[in-house]
Formats: sequence, structure tokens, C-alpha cells
Amino acid sequence: MVYKRYSAAAAFLTLLFGAAGCAASLAEAPAQSTPPGGASISVIENVTVLPMTAPGAFLENATVVIESGRIVSLDQPAPADALRIDGTGKWLIPGLADMHVHLLSDGLPRPPAYPTEAPTMFFDTQDIMTPYIANGVTQVLNMDAIAPSIGQRNEIARGDALGPHIALAAVINGGDGARGRVANTPSDGRQAVRDIKAEGYDFVKVYSGLDVETYLAIVDEASLQGMKTLGHIPDALQGQLDRAFVPGFGMVAHAEEFSKHSEDFTYADAARFAQLAKDNGTWVSPTLTVMRWIASETRSLDEMKSSPALQYVHPMLQAKWVQANRYQKNSSPELISYFDSMVVFHRRLVKALKGAGVPMLAGTDAMTSGVVGGFSLHEELALLVDAGLTPEEALTSATRLPAEWLGVQGDRGTIEPGKRADLVLLDANPLTDISNAQEIAGVMLNGRWISRAVLDDMLADLSARNTDMREQFEADKLMKRP
Ligand SMILES: [Zn+2]
Repeated sequence: MVYKRYSAAAAFLTLLFGAAGCAASLAEAPAQSTPPGGASISVIENVTVLPMTAPGAFLENATVVIESGRIVSLDQPAPADALRIDGTGKWLIPGLADMHVHLLSDGLPRPPAYPTEAPTMFFDTQDIMTPYIANGVTQVLNMDAIAPSIGQRNEIARGDALGPHIALAAVINGGDGARGRVANTPSDGRQAVRDIKAEGYDFVKVYSGLDVETYLAIVDEASLQGMKTLGHIPDALQGQLDRAFVPGFGMVAHAEEFSKHSEDFTYADAARFAQLAKDNGTWVSPTLTVMRWIASETRSLDEMKSSPALQYVHPMLQAKWVQANRYQKNSSPELISYFDSMVVFHRRLVKALKGAGVPMLAGTDAMTSGVVGGFSLHEELALLVDAGLTPEEALTSATRLPAEWLGVQGDRGTIEPGKRADLVLLDANPLTDISNAQEIAGVMLNGRWISRAVLDDMLADLSARNTDMREQFEADKLMKRP
């Protein structure tokens, strides 16, 4: 049995909710601990640095000097005029990455009347990004990028909102065009790749509905254009999974893409899949979190409804997750046990991937029901450790390896002089217990220090705004609108 799953996308949401026609509130500019143009030199003193450069690497009593957004040194005395941050008894790690997210972005509450129709629904970028920053996530890969995603990325890059660096993958799918751009012939596939490159996206995401020849043409064209391909394994490759693994296919976006090709979820299958990835140099983002949530929501919505992170989710999504949850709607005893067995198999697959030496990338599928941006990355790290990674390996999957896969390892992903100052200061050692990566004392983003108190204020503001807007987004009301 193959169960098709579609991740939430802005277009899908807006279609689901009909004419919502309401703009998200305008957030106030968040308070900063270091205002732009303020102290440009900061120092984190007397801290234990986990640079994530190599297994076992650490530096005690380090003085991390940051100037103009970059790490200048780890062992020089603090300049006199620097903003001083006490790192005594604390641990410093690189900013974290979530390599599989979806982000709300401006759009229309219905299909466009003509191809270039402008958005009428707007979402406040800061409100979408605050949960990421508050959880130390300073890099994401948007797996469903559309034109407004480029504006969203630029808004952050310009400094108008505090948010993670965003890499953009644009989707190509086959079939009737329910999702992404459509290609049902190899020549259309190649043209879609050239369009994606010309429009300024970073990566090509292949999706489940592609036919085999079109899929192969897309991966080939992307390689010719110097772009990596990532994503789902097309359903048309059922029974011939090995054909998916061609040069240029850089990342499988879910463990689920493999489990669709297993009859009995054995370890032997997991090992076979891992070897296919290894032989082709393909990395894997297992996204254990989303499957765990799907299993939970198929059983009951109790866990999701009582999740403390839910308050930080935009009320339009909250309404969808709680009042129009399709996993709950389609629930059956068979489906519950199927998803439970997937959760078990994915753990097996992570073990097999580790055994085969396939690099794994922490990713969560944030914005799918239950999966809250930022908070979910810590769930993923815990699940990876539960599946057999050491805490250090799990942290590597969210720091150095994502930077390498994205090709930005010269700029970020580790703590070294010359690297961008995207840092997370922790109150406890994440190598002894991965949940300590949530004990965040402050986050440095491009060299700007955001203390715990400021992070808490930002979260409290966001929660209050979401609560104020909740009524306006109740699913029943939205459905009844003309
Ligand atoms: Zn996804």
C-alpha cells in the first residue's frame, strides 16, 4: 500500500480556506539587544565552543570575538569597546539548520484569474520567522519556493526582519499541475529547469507525479545548469527504485520516499536503500518528525492540540490543523498501524544510512500539521538520536553538513575565524543530552546578539497576536464565506 501525502503549501491552504481575504497583522519591529549600527564588536567570553568542524572538537575558556557580523578570533583578548557576553558555564554551537521547511508566503485565496495576478493575502515575515530564531535556527531550505518566497528571503537578507538564511527550491511535478510547475515531457522538464534557474531559485525539487523520462531529463538538465536536484522519488519508479539514483540527484527529501518501496519494512530493505544512496552520493533528510506527527494525528488530535508550540503557529494554519485535519478525517485502524510501522521503519533506515555512511540532513517538513517551525528542529534532533545517531552526529546534521550540501560551507555551518557569526549560546552541554540544544541563553544572527529575554518577548508578542486573530480564521467561518 502506498499512501500519498501532500505537504502543506501556501497555495493549497489558500484554496482550502476559500476567500479568507484577510491580511496578517503587522508586527511591531522586534526589540534588539544590539541595534543595527550599534556596537559592531561583540565578545562571548569564557565559553566552551563546539565548533562542529570535526568529531570531538571543542575549545574551553574561549573568547569569541565577533566584528561586523563575522567571527574574527577564538583566542584573542576582548577589545575594550566590545559588547561583552558572559559565556561562563555555557556552550556555543553554530546556528542550526532545518533542511526541509515550508513557509507561509503572500498569495491569493483562490486560483489566480490570470497567471501574474498579484497576492491579496499577506503574511508578516517576522511573525513567520520568530519561532525559527527563538529556537536557534539560522538556516532553512524552503522546499516549495514560489515568487513571493524570493521577496521573503530578500526582506531578511536586507535586515528588515530577523530570520534565518533561506535557500529556495522550486518544485516541478507531473500530472495535472495541482502542485508546482508542471512537466509531462522531457523537453518541458528541461525548460522548467531553465526557468527555475533564470528566475533565481537555488535548487530544483522533483515531485511524486513525474514520469520516469521527464524526471531523468530534469536531473540531467539541472546538472548541466549547475544546480542540484532534490526531492521526492517519482511514484512511476515503483519497482525500479535504482533508476532514481542518477548523478545530480543530491538529496532524498523524506525517509518516506524509501518506505514507499518496501513491502515488509525489513532492515534488509533499509540497508539496500542506504546502499543506493551511498553509491550515488545522494544525501538524505529523513524528516522523522513529520511522520511521527502524522501517526499521532491519525490516532487523535490530543497531542497536537495540547502542544505548547501551537500558539506560535499562524491562526490560519492552526484552524487547518485542528479543525480540518485530514489525517484525523481519514483515520482508520489500518492507517494508524501503517503509520506506526513507518515510524519504526524510518528509525531502521536512519541506522542503515549511518551504517552505510550516507550523510543525513536534519529536516522537519515544518508547516505540515503538527510540525512547528523552529521547535520541530529540536524534535528532529531528538528523534535522530533515538534512531541511533550520537548527539554530536545529530548536531552535525543540523550545522556543518547542511552548509556543505548547500555549498555555503565557506560562510557558515561551523565556528571558525572568518565564518559568519550565526551562533547559539546554550546553558547546558548538548553532547551529553541533545535536548540541551533547547536550553538557549541567546542567539547571534549575522553578529547581532538576541538575548533570551528578547527572544521571550518576541515569542510572547507573537502568541498574543495569533490569539487575537484566531477567531477570524476559524475554519467554519472561512468555509462559509462567499
Ligand atoms: Zn515538505
